[in-house]
Amino acid sequence: MERHAWRMDEPQQPLTRVEDAIPEPDADETVVAVAGCGICHTDLGFLDGHVATRKEPPLVLGHEIAGTVVAAGADATAWNGKQVVVAAVIPCGECDLCGTGRGNACSRQVMPGNDRDGGFASHVIVPAAGLAEVSELPTGYELADLAVVADAVTTPLQAVRRAGVDEGDLVAVVGTGGVGTYAVQVAAASGARVIAIDIDPARLEPLTAHGAAAVVDASGLSPREVRDRVREHASSLGAPRIGWKIFECSGTAAGQETAFGLVGPTATLAIVGFTRAKVHLRLSNLMAFDADAFGSWGCPPERYAEAIDLVTSGAVTLLPFTRRVDMTEIASALDEARAGSDPRRIILTP
Ligand SMILES: [Zn+2]
Ligand SMILES: [Zn+2]
Repeated sequence: MERHAWRMDEPQQPLTRVEDAIPEPDADETVVAVAGCGICHTDLGFLDGHVATRKEPPLVLGHEIAGTVVAAGADATAWNGKQVVVAAVIPCGECDLCGTGRGNACSRQVMPGNDRDGGFASHVIVPAAGLAEVSELPTGYELADLAVVADAVTTPLQAVRRAGVDEGDLVAVVGTGGVGTYAVQVAAASGARVIAIDIDPARLEPLTAHGAAAVVDASGLSPREVRDRVREHASSLGAPRIGWKIFECSGTAAGQETAFGLVGPTATLAIVGFTRAKVHLRLSNLMAFDADAFGSWGCPPERYAEAIDLVTSGAVTLLPFTRRVDMTEIASALDEARAGSDPRRIILTP
């Protein structure tokens, strides 16, 4: 079977379009015909040379993949013909972390577009352990649109579940980009009253119709001022003053300071975004407030069915926050993602 792909030969260079034959999948692997592959900031980090891929280039990037299984190894034939979302992080299933139910943190995990060729291609080979079936599409959706479930929806879902978000909770989401948008929606679908915080009003505005009970434009505000605004909203929403659940999704030092500033009595702070920057915090606030803090990485494949259900039931809406771009325009699409002028997630369609 032939495939075409847009390959990174080395960072900071234009991608090379290649056509070659797909190798036979191993017994536990499948060949997925890509319907859509999202562009994530992680891809830009690899491409711009800020972060090294685990497999050295040449490598096809892309880890937010939805598609259809068109071939399968001997142990994976049940997947033939199925529409799937591919988990962005595929655990080994055998190590100590996998054995304790923490497969999302598996040290031998495989990530398409990082450990092996990913989805900026017509086809990708994927271990069957990383597949989640899409049995029906919501009205108005194409399979490609579900590509963002692979990472942008499942990553916050895992964090929201781990934080134990429940009916009536006050949830604050700091940073409403690709991941935070879905943190807002998933928390709202769990019955929480959600306050969305960002420095870009254009990112906040659409969330008022999709999960946010209130929004705070944090541009120019100190963490203390943001906390005061959140307190005011919490009180007018009749939400609890204690036990806030805070999700840092901006992956910026300023966002982390803002999120930490929201930690009060018995709060839970989840760090979902990544930055290399360091912040100056009084960690003893956690002690003084009897608060919890944790970091969340990815999502185990077992939880993907729940993420897909949230989308097919309409509890989480994707379309206002994504746009499809033909994969032949990948170069300009990457530039647009880098510039960030349009907040909608780009999904490349081959
Ligand atoms: Zn990603
Ligand atoms: Zn493992």
